[in-house]
Amino acid sequence: MRTLTRFTAALLLAASALAHPAAAAGLRVVTTTEDLASLTREIGGDKVTVTALAKGYQDPHFVDPKPSFILAVNQADLLIVVGRELEIGWLPPLINSARNAKIQPGGNGYLDASLTVKILELPSGQITRAMGDVHPQGNPHYWLDPGNGRRMALAIKEKLSQLDAANKATYEARYADFDKRLAAAEKKWDAQMAPYKGTQIVTYHRSWPNFMERFGLDVMGYVEPKPGIPPSPSHTIELIAEMKAKGVKLIVVEPYFDLKTPQSITNQLGGKVLVLAPSVGGVKEATDYIQLFEYNVNLIASSLKQLTGK
Ligand SMILES: [Zn+2]
Repeated sequence: MRTLTRFTAALLLAASALAHPAAAAGLRVVTTTEDLASLTREIGGDKVTVTALAKGYQDPHFVDPKPSFILAVNQADLLIVVGRELEIGWLPPLINSARNAKIQPGGNGYLDASLTVKILELPSGQITRAMGDVHPQGNPHYWLDPGNGRRMALAIKEKLSQLDAANKATYEARYADFDKRLAAAEKKWDAQMAPYKGTQIVTYHRSWPNFMERFGLDVMGYVEPKPGIPPSPSHTIELIAEMKAKGVKLIVVEPYFDLKTPQSITNQLGGKVLVLAPSVGGVKEATDYIQLFEYNVNLIASSLKQLTGK
């Protein structure tokens, strides 16, 4: 973090020397992920300028903060985060370095999008290091349920309306339009996934509980022995035995994990590895929040069709 701090002084000096361009329209919103950025663009349209920090093809738990992040956060009117400790490894030092009173946690320009959504895997009892280290406040990959996407869009609409009351009608209208398009898309996705209800699959990391629950699939196990812990030979052997016993053939992997272990498992079982997009920008086809699901649902439905013959 010393490097980050050293960069900060120089960057903020450079930033203040630049005249604020009159063309930079409306509220300056910074989001930690591309999913939040896409939802903010849906609601804000040309009334906001949105910058996403992490790319959709990066593991959102582990992001290298770039000097440009500090500048973006320094100039933000609003910072929107996934929360539930998803960004705990990289965001707090960035907020400290950025020296912007508006976007401090708890402040008016800070929105934790997890506060109004449905959270799965909330732990009960004491958390220990032995449980792995990444999901102590429930599963933070909650944006992978379109129902939660709608709830996030609603929270963003209310925050934008609060910070920029003059454009409230625009935000309301854009939310209503997004809600309508998302509902129509959900109807189509539900029809595509209906034949595979209850099918068991395996995923690499615990990124998909909201997605799988929403679309009726059952996650049987994980390639990671514990969240954030790389595959171990003993866990892999147990996983293969259980998949074999239950006839499970599909492993879903995020683009930022090594395919070697999932590939060797499915080779032994005559199964298939699917790289799905966990975020907007995770694959080039996932250009916005609705396209993210469009890509994932098309791929998983066609693969299950091939594997099950249904
Ligand atoms: Zn995770």
